[in-house]
Amino acid sequence: MKDTSLYGATADGLAALLTEWGEPAYRARQLHEGLWEQRLPLDEITALPKALRARIAEELPLALEPIVEQTGDDGMTSKWLWRAGTAQVETVLMRYKDRATVCVSSQAGCAMGCTFCATGQAGFERHLDAAEIVEQVIRAQHASPQRVGNVVFMGMGEPLANVDPVLEALTRLHAELGISARQLTVSTVGVVPGIRRLAAFPLPVTLAVSLHAPDDALRARLVPLNNRYPIVDVLDAARDYAEAKGRRVTFEYACIADVNDHPHRADALADRLTGFRGGAHVNLIPLNPTTEFGGRAPDPARLKQFASRLTARGVHASIRRNRGVDIDAACGQLRSRNPAEPDTASASATMKP
Ligand code: SAH
Ligand code: SF4
Repeated sequence: MKDTSLYGATADGLAALLTEWGEPAYRARQLHEGLWEQRLPLDEITALPKALRARIAEELPLALEPIVEQTGDDGMTSKWLWRAGTAQVETVLMRYKDRATVCVSSQAGCAMGCTFCATGQAGFERHLDAAEIVEQVIRAQHASPQRVGNVVFMGMGEPLANVDPVLEALTRLHAELGISARQLTVSTVGVVPGIRRLAAFPLPVTLAVSLHAPDDALRARLVPLNNRYPIVDVLDAARDYAEAKGRRVTFEYACIADVNDHPHRADALADRLTGFRGGAHVNLIPLNPTTEFGGRAPDPARLKQFASRLTARGVHASIRRNRGVDIDAACGQLRSRNPAEPDTASASATMKP
C-alpha cells in the first residue's frame, strides 16, 4: 500500500489496509462507498470516525495539489492547474443543468508538437498514471453539484501515447464511478497503434480523432505525427474502430482562417470521411490563438459555410460552442501563463462531448 494515493488504492487494497489497522470489515465498505459511490471528499465521509479519516489521509495522500482554480461562465465552468509531484497538469469541469463533463489531462505536457497547441509548444514532461487521471475526475466532481456523467480526454497530453495508464483509468472510471463507456471519450492526434489497442480494449468508449486537414501536406504542417501516420492510415484505423465497436467516430478540426478553412478543403474532408459506420461526425473547433502560432479563428460566417458544405455531402458537422472567451483551458494555456500571476479572464473550454 505504500506510495499509493487515495484514488490509486483499489477496493481490495483499502480493505487490506483497514484490516491491518484492526478496523472491522464494514469500515472498508463505508470508505469505498463514500469515495466512489457517493463521490465525497474523504473528510466528508462522516460514517467514518474523524481519527480514522485523518489516518487514511496521512497514509493515502491525494496526488494533486491545486495551484490555480478559476471559475467562469456564471460558475458553470471551472478549471484547475494542479501540481502532481514536480509536474503541472490541467483539468476542466463543465457543468450543465443536470450533468457535468470533466476534461482530463493524460500527460504533463505533450511530445507531439502540434504547432497550434499550447501544450505541444511547451513540450513533454511526463506521463500521468491512472490514479492521477482518475483523481482529476473526482476532484472536479467535488466542485460540482451535478453528477459527472462524461469524461473527455481532451486536456493536456496525447492519451494514446500513454496507453496502459489511460486504459486503466477508463476501466476504473467505468467500474468504480459507473460512467458508461459511450460517455468516456478518448481524443487522439492519430497514434495508429494506440487506436488499434483501444479497439481491442473491451469497453466501447467513444473515439475522437484530431484531423485538422484533409490533405497530408497541410496536416503535416499542423501535426508533425502525420509524417509517421499519414491520413490514410489514421482513417483506416478509425474506420476499423467504428466497425469493431459499432460506434460513430468523431473528428476534430481546429479551424484556422486561411489555413484549413477553404471550401475546397471542406469538400475534400467530406470525401475522405465517407463510408464510416454510423457516419462520421466532424467537430469544428474555432482556433484558440496561442503565443507561438500566428493563426486566428475564421469568422462565424466562414465557419458556418464550412459546416454546411460538410453537411451537404452527408457528413454530420457541428461548431463547438466555446464557453466564455478564453477557450482551450485544458490545452496547456493555463500552465503556459505564469502560475504566480493567474489569469483572471473568465474560464472556458473547447471540450464538449
Ligand atoms: N492530444 C489529443 C487530445 C488533447 S487536445 C488530441 O490532440 O486529440 C484536444 C483537442 O484540442 C484536439 O482536437 C486539439 O487539436 C485541440 N486543440 C489544441 N490546441 C488548440 C487550439 N489552440 N485551438 C483549438 N483547438 C485546439
Ligand atoms: Fe499533443 Fe493534442 Fe496538443 Fe497535439 S493537439 S500537441 S497531440 S495535446
